[in-house]
Amino acid sequence: MAEHTPHDTNESSSLRTPIVAVLGHVDHGKTTLLDKIRGSAVTEGEAGAITQHIGSTAVPLSVIGEMAGDLVDPTDFDLPGLLFIDTPGHHSFSTLRSRGGALADIAIVVVDVTDGFQPQTEEALDILKRTQTPFIVAANKVDTIPGWNPNDDQPIQASKDRQPDRVQSDLDERLYELIGHLSDEGFSADFYWRVQNFQNNIGVVPLSALTGEGVPDLLTVLMGLSQRYLKEEMAIDVAGPGAGTVLEVTDERGFGTTIDAVVYDGTIRADDQIVVGGLEEPIVTEVRALLQPRPLAEIRTEKEFEKVDSVAAAAGVKIAAPDLDDAMAGAPVRVVRDRPVEEVIAEVEAELAAVEVQTEEEGIVVKADTLGSLEAISSTLADEEIPIMRAEVGDVAPRDIRVAETANEPTHRAILAFGVDILDDAVALADQEDVGIFEHDVIYQLIEDYSEHVTAIEESQQ
Ligand code: GDP
Repeated sequence: MAEHTPHDTNESSSLRTPIVAVLGHVDHGKTTLLDKIRGSAVTEGEAGAITQHIGSTAVPLSVIGEMAGDLVDPTDFDLPGLLFIDTPGHHSFSTLRSRGGALADIAIVVVDVTDGFQPQTEEALDILKRTQTPFIVAANKVDTIPGWNPNDDQPIQASKDRQPDRVQSDLDERLYELIGHLSDEGFSADFYWRVQNFQNNIGVVPLSALTGEGVPDLLTVLMGLSQRYLKEEMAIDVAGPGAGTVLEVTDERGFGTTIDAVVYDGTIRADDQIVVGGLEEPIVTEVRALLQPRPLAEIRTEKEFEKVDSVAAAAGVKIAAPDLDDAMAGAPVRVVRDRPVEEVIAEVEAELAAVEVQTEEEGIVVKADTLGSLEAISSTLADEEIPIMRAEVGDVAPRDIRVAETANEPTHRAILAFGVDILDDAVALADQEDVGIFEHDVIYQLIEDYSEHVTAIEESQQ
């Protein structure tokens, strides 16, 4: 591989920013951690370099360097920084893809040290194993451990060689417990206070998302891991036509329907023709504006977004273009440039077709907010041997009730709704036709609610 200088714009090949996702059990501190990273980065760095409100947050290497002080020597790295996906959780991790793989290149699994491994922690590890995504464990809420003293300058020195009988603090004990779980899962683990010897192990970084203690260490370990293991994958042809993933479809005053996207390859320009995955079919349109947040200092007086001429991977961007109403979260965005548009449409279609949902003549109806979530729910339903008659992205509408009411089995007269709205006339019709609508934004709970309903029907039939 050729030598790269990240800032050398004359060279078409460049190293892009690794994309980071945050996973973990509910209430273990994912949102707080992301807020802290965003907040600290904004206070410590040049605010202009931080992107906000477009579904992802870029933290440049220079800012990580400032936050981490003597932990990081920016000249040791040639990756340009880290790009965090703002929506934490398994759902966003699984639904956001790039060319069939996970959109995120690396993940943080947040574990509340006082609560330990929980079902969604296991789930997160399963997902990361399946997608072969490297990760690091944030052992969160250390500030709640009795005896924890954030002003104590002495770093907690710990290594896997240390014997349990020498465990001195409650925190050590809990960290050992975490590491024990990781080993049970087949991972080898080590943990760090001040990063010194990152080896080929899972990093467990003790921290407090609330106070910020340990957050620079986390960023340092992430940077180190990325530099060491992801560098080759981060080499892209920056000048090539941009490829990205839709994070969210939003309305933006003055721009109509826009999409928030993460560009993970090439460059998108303000005059590009693009193809975006849509609810019915790929949308072919022309970029009207590329928007990125203004430097925070200017936001109070000026408009929140500024127009930019181009955005190179990896970066978040808000894209304004005609005809985006049917754009789909989780779907691909592709720049057409110098290629026949048919080729790009076929590419987008192929990517969407890779998401397969098996449907039967008899079964329930599933409606979900993204293709990825539809796929996740469908595969869980298949495991539970619950047949699906129709699976679609979109709100629950009267026509879905019409489909559900054709089911022969009373237990199949049901709609599972995930992350979507249920239209008022659909509710009325469902009441009238005795079709059950179940909604939840946690997949296993959605299916559990439905299963309870099935049990109730079966019991009443006996
Ligand atoms: P999420 O569901 O994983 O996104 O968890 P949240 O970030 O919403 O956090 C759940 C609760 O834990 C909130 O009340 C947070 O204030 C609290 N919390 C998160 N991180 C910490 C931490 O490091 N220390 C303490 N004491 N509380 C925390």
